[in-house]
Amino acid sequence: MEEIRGRRLTLLIGEDEIKRRVRELGDRIAVEFRDAGEFVVVGLLKGAFVFTADLIREIDLPLKVDFLWVSSYGQSMESAGTIKVLKDLETDIEDRDVLLVDDILDTGTTLKEIHAFLLMKNPRRLKTCVLLDKKGRRKVDFEADYVGFEVPNRFLVGYGLDWGELGRNLSGVYAVEDQ
Ligand code: 5GP
Ligand code: MG
Repeated sequence: MEEIRGRRLTLLIGEDEIKRRVRELGDRIAVEFRDAGEFVVVGLLKGAFVFTADLIREIDLPLKVDFLWVSSYGQSMESAGTIKVLKDLETDIEDRDVLLVDDILDTGTTLKEIHAFLLMKNPRRLKTCVLLDKKGRRKVDFEADYVGFEVPNRFLVGYGLDWGELGRNLSGVYAVEDQ
């Protein structure tokens, strides 16, 4: 697949590079969460499901996995700004160590709100991991604790990220060209 809906795709981060980086992140997280007991990895649907699936297999610790689904972009390429919880957690995270996992940090609006939403559930510790970070786009004061790659301000698809639900199954991360 080299295009979606007639728009060309340019490879930004290949499968092997992602695999290496996910392994590094998993190793670091395993060191920092080694005293956490059974901690909870919270993946954000849908974009982070691929990254979450790979990341947990690189963390050699007893952990639980849950998913949170909040309203997202839909067909548009711009963020809406406020979140609506479509599917809440099934796991009780009170007094638990929690790792929140998302695909990409852009303006920061979404993740900042989700972070605040999870804090209301009184976890013992809450850390955030994102695969991609568009640092130059930040509009609110929020940074992730673990970042896979810093990426330019382009619209990206692949490895779980979609454009109108297409492109999630690409093994690498691609930029969607204007034409
Ligand atoms: P923020 O609230 O940080 O602006 O938006 C974060 C969310 O916007 C991400 O979780 C993701 O769903 C979406 N997003 C931001 N940039 C991109 C992008 O380049 N490609 C895709 N597919 N989604 C993006
Ligand atoms: Mg998202």
